[in-house]
Amino acid sequence: TNQALQQRKQAVIACGQGNLYPIYVARAKNAEVWDVEGSRYLDFGTGIAVCNTGHCHPQVIKAVNQQMENFSHTCVMVNPYESAVALAEKLVELTPGNSPKKAMFVTTGAEAVENAIKIARAHTGRRGVIAFNGGFHGRTNFTMGLTGKVTPYKDHFGPFPAEIYHVPFPNSLHGITEQSSLQALNTLLKVDISPRDVAAIIIEPIQGEGGFYVASPAFLQAMRALCDQHGIMLICDEIQSGFARTGHMFYTEVSGIEPDLITLAKGIAGGIPLSAVVGKAEVMDSAPVGGLGGTYGGSPLGCAAGLAVLDIIIQEQLIIRAKMIEQRFFESLGALKASYPNVIADVRGSGAMIALELMLDGTPSEPNPQLTKTIISMAQAHGLILLACGFHANVIRFLPPLTITEAHLNEGLERFHTLFDQA
Ligand code: PLP
Repeated sequence: TNQALQQRKQAVIACGQGNLYPIYVARAKNAEVWDVEGSRYLDFGTGIAVCNTGHCHPQVIKAVNQQMENFSHTCVMVNPYESAVALAEKLVELTPGNSPKKAMFVTTGAEAVENAIKIARAHTGRRGVIAFNGGFHGRTNFTMGLTGKVTPYKDHFGPFPAEIYHVPFPNSLHGITEQSSLQALNTLLKVDISPRDVAAIIIEPIQGEGGFYVASPAFLQAMRALCDQHGIMLICDEIQSGFARTGHMFYTEVSGIEPDLITLAKGIAGGIPLSAVVGKAEVMDSAPVGGLGGTYGGSPLGCAAGLAVLDIIIQEQLIIRAKMIEQRFFESLGALKASYPNVIADVRGSGAMIALELMLDGTPSEPNPQLTKTIISMAQAHGLILLACGFHANVIRFLPPLTITEAHLNEGLERFHTLFDQA
């Protein structure tokens, strides 16, 4: 049973890797998940924005099985293989901007960010890195330092690397204007660190763990201009927002800017661990041979899956699908907001990356994490997998597969309305 497995898990897996809801998965297909007791769930979390092409897409299964039969591992830095080259060729084409680009592969999102910072430092010869409050970039030492939220990501884990600076992310709901963010950044560059010592600014075009706050095109353009002015590398972290998730292949496209480096993971390979850094060729080539990557970086299985995922995104028109999903969510959650104007502070996001923020007493500045938790646990109990995010864990995030059927999307939304009424 789920409970028996939860007890076994708690006995042998560290609580730092704890789960809130004991749903032990037996199998999954597209947007549906079944647990070990045979209960069925609709997955509106996709393992934290990973299964953009749904669970167990037949083309991903075929590609991975075929690769496993051919060979499973050699290391791209020892005896490389065509799929890594082919995937890099596609990524340099698909990522925003027309400069000649190159890619490199690692395994997790945090590693992609670590490597992007290494490349930016090698290219500029500078050390400073600027990140945003509320941002999330991973759980390794450097990415933890970049992450803007203390609990639970940073509590007890210091000291963090030096030379990391944080500035506010624009957030109109909570009174942080773009102008005040830019002002904070300019003050930082006057008072705390000279722009000549800053290697990179890293930004999520849509903050993921931070609450799905969206950076406007104007703000990203301002970041680009500032970086150009001072020779700073602009890194867009699209680990959560990439691969058609937002109704764009990458959300940075909306602003029309070209980042120097972009970090990719999660949706890249349909659940096989793979991540990448893609960037301007002359920047990417700043690190010496052997200085980047790792044993499993760009594994054959990951690259085979990644190529299949890119084919599926095109063949099944998942960018358009994500926009249709967005429309359904805005209609449905917009109606809910109209019914509960004192509870729902905001519905926002792009494509199939949608957030519902909950407040107390009609006051957006008063977060309601308790109700958020209640609704999410009720949802799990009623067959709907949902996740929370946000600085105060008062945001419900919706991340269904982009391949979800109309029927399952409607079923999930109807179920959510019912739960919300009951909560
Ligand atoms: N960057 C962003 C924007 C993320 O959302 C995440 C994970 O949630 C990461 C980095 C870290 O990725 P990983 O957990 O694969 O290390």
